[in-house]
Amino acid sequence: MNTHSDGPLIDSFGRTVSYVRLSVTDRCDFRCVYCMSEDMTFVPRAQVLTLEELGQIARAFAELQIKKIRITGGEPLVKNNVLKLFDEIGAMPGINELTLTTNGSQLTRMAADLKASGVSRINISLDTLKADKFKELTRTGDISKVLAGIDAAIKAKFEKIKINAVILKNRNHDEVTDLVNFAIERELDITFIEEMPLGKVSDRSREEAYYSSDRIKEDLAQSFELIETTESTGGPARYIKIPNTKTKVGFISPHSHNFCSTCNRVRVTAEGLLLLCLGQEHSVDLKRVIRANPGDIEKLKKTIRDAMSIKPEGHDFDITAKPIIFRHMNSTGG
Ligand code: SAM
Ligand code: SF4
Repeated sequence: MNTHSDGPLIDSFGRTVSYVRLSVTDRCDFRCVYCMSEDMTFVPRAQVLTLEELGQIARAFAELQIKKIRITGGEPLVKNNVLKLFDEIGAMPGINELTLTTNGSQLTRMAADLKASGVSRINISLDTLKADKFKELTRTGDISKVLAGIDAAIKAKFEKIKINAVILKNRNHDEVTDLVNFAIERELDITFIEEMPLGKVSDRSREEAYYSSDRIKEDLAQSFELIETTESTGGPARYIKIPNTKTKVGFISPHSHNFCSTCNRVRVTAEGLLLLCLGQEHSVDLKRVIRANPGDIEKLKKTIRDAMSIKPEGHDFDITAKPIIFRHMNSTGG
């Protein structure tokens, strides 16, 4: 572990942490079946980090040699005045990649401003191409807004646009080929995500809906030639290429492939908890530090650096067990 005050963040397993995912809100205009329960209770507003606090946290990480920040949520684009935060981080020295994960519902009005603020890459969630299925999976969403949002993002010319699709057996597993064709036609990348057991979202068992990345690959192999690559973006996804297309197809497979040994990231929840691992409860309360020491960036940096010593070696996801992680994905920051 690096305890030197100017060096990069290094944990006790020798992994350099260079990437932070900031959840800016736990609120969302959708209620996706794998992410939230139907009657979600959200954190009281006073407990959610303000834009100013989020800016301070981003600055502390930038001074600790974090290079990449992804803004996520909840739905980040429903937070009031969130563009101010994008403008601030986009102009922050040291941050050379500012990215966003969104459900796409607000992109028709915001894509151009996000691009102007310095967002380079954007992930847009889309699990199905069918309007009725979309309503079923998101409980409240309107697919036409999201499709128009994807068009707006394409028009805004982000460096990279990636579709994220969580695949559930007997819900949308029959659409993987159509989703890849959708991505190919628009020259987008697409990543398929195995459902992770975060929080209780309904009475159904997560195991029953499990559809592995390997099965998705088998399904895709019926229609496409798939070329395995060793390419990595430093994250958990593994990629394949489809010849004569610009589309990369990624797979995030926490159950079938453990990706912890190369983990380079930490998360900050909407309530300001620094989470050292998506699949474990190890955390440090940054909001408490900020609110007890207003404006003291050195204190915040020291808290973050000290937290590296408790970053666990890996997650313990087990879809056959009862959820051991009681946080939902929306408060965690997916
Ligand atoms: N609201 C934005 C969105 O949907 O893209 C950003 C936040 S969302 C929590 C980030 C990603 O996490 C989405 O791609 C979503 O599909 C995924 N996600 C949510 N709950 C999940 C779960 N239980 N397992 C796997 N992925 C999940
Ligand atoms: Fe909202 Fe994203 Fe969670 Fe869906 S996955 S409920 S869009 S935060």
